[in-house]
This record gives sequence, C-alpha cells and structure tokens, in this order.
Amino acid sequence: MSGSLFIVAAPSGAGKTSLVRALVKQDPHVRLSVSHTTRPARAGEVDTEDYFFVSEEMFSKMREAGDFLESATVFDHSYGTSAAAVHHQLHAGNDVILEIDWQGAQQVRKNFPDSSSIFILPPSKQALEQRLRGRGQDDEATISRRMRDAESEMSHYVEFDYLIVNDDFDHALASLTAIVMASRHKLAVQQSNYSTLLADLLA
Ligand code: 5GP
Repeated sequence: MSGSLFIVAAPSGAGKTSLVRALVKQDPHVRLSVSHTTRPARAGEVDTEDYFFVSEEMFSKMREAGDFLESATVFDHSYGTSAAAVHHQLHAGNDVILEIDWQGAQQVRKNFPDSSSIFILPPSKQALEQRLRGRGQDDEATISRRMRDAESEMSHYVEFDYLIVNDDFDHALASLTAIVMASRHKLAVQQSNYSTLLADLLA
C-alpha cells in the first residue's frame, strides 16, 4: 500500500498553512513534509517542526548529494523537500502534503505525474493585503514587496489541478478534504489497496 502525494501552493497570506495544519490534525493518514530551509527561524518557529533550519553550506551539500525531491530559491532563501522522508511516509501508506512554491511544484509534477496539486487563493486583493499587513509592524516597502511576490506566485495558479478560494475557512477545509478523499478512491490507488479483495471477488 502506498500513499499519494499532494502539492499545496498559495501566495503567503492566503491561509495555506492553517488549512493544511487542520487537514493533518483531522486525518491520521495525512502527513506534512517538513522542509529544509536556509532562512532564519521566525519568532515562535520550532526547528524540526516548522522547518529544518540549516546553514547555506549544509543545504548545498544536501542538494549536491541528491537529498532533495525538489528545491528552489524563494525570497532570497533556499528551500528543499527531503526525498527520504517523503518516500518513507508514502511507503508507510500515508498521504504526504508538500507545502511548496510554484517552482518546486513544477519539479514534483515532472517526477511524480500521479501527484495532485492544489492552489489556494485569497478571496480578494484587499483581504490578501490585510493579512500581509496583519503579520507585524512592517514598513510600506516590505508590504509592497510581499504583494508583488504574492502576485507573482498567484500567476502560476493555472498549472495546478485544483483551485480553492479561501473565503471561508471551514468551506475551504471541506474542499481540501474532499480532494484528498477523492484521490484516495482513484482506480489505480484502490487496485493497489484492494488487490487481494479484487482477486478474490473476480476469481
Ligand atoms: P516561508 O519562508 O514564508 O515559510 O515560505 C516561503 C515560501 O517558500 C512559501 O511559498 C512556501 O510554500 C515555500 N516553501 C516552503 N518550503 C518549501 C520547499 O521545501 N520547497 C519549495 N520549493 N518551496 C517551499
């Protein structure tokens, strides 16, 4: 039995992390991949839980050793998904969520054509700006840059299989859950899960 791979991308401020955390909390067979990054930890972030915070040197070594399933530079820092951790979870029968950017999504799609990709959008430009502002006491230049970065990320939504507009948290979570559930019932997945039953029924 092997799990499925899901890519979830969104501009920051769309509520992606809260949605994915809620999904993981309600479903014991969904695991969130913890990425490696060279960006410094933000207040409240925990090493090995939010990210594996590593040096540039360590990141380069891992990339050269082929340890990453995908990697990308986002907002001046390097990010990568550990191939071994993802394979371990998939082989254990768990579904794995990769919370990554559009560049990583392109790499994963190429190597895992059976993966499903989901893009999450904010309900409006104003809501996005409000969420980006709500995070701290950043200056206008920082807010403008975040808005530009968000627009650039959002311009890639057409590359994804599913689109969720996060106008209501519960509705968006229900949609995300439905996508995971539907993928679990795809014929090829079920043929592998129920090979013994199918052989018995059709004998
Ligand atoms: P943040 O630093 O705000 O947590 O994340 C910044 C961006 O990097 C987000 O769009 C996030 O999805 C993306 N990101 C986080 N981890 C990875 C990863 O392992 N690979 C890629 N390609 N992007 C990532």
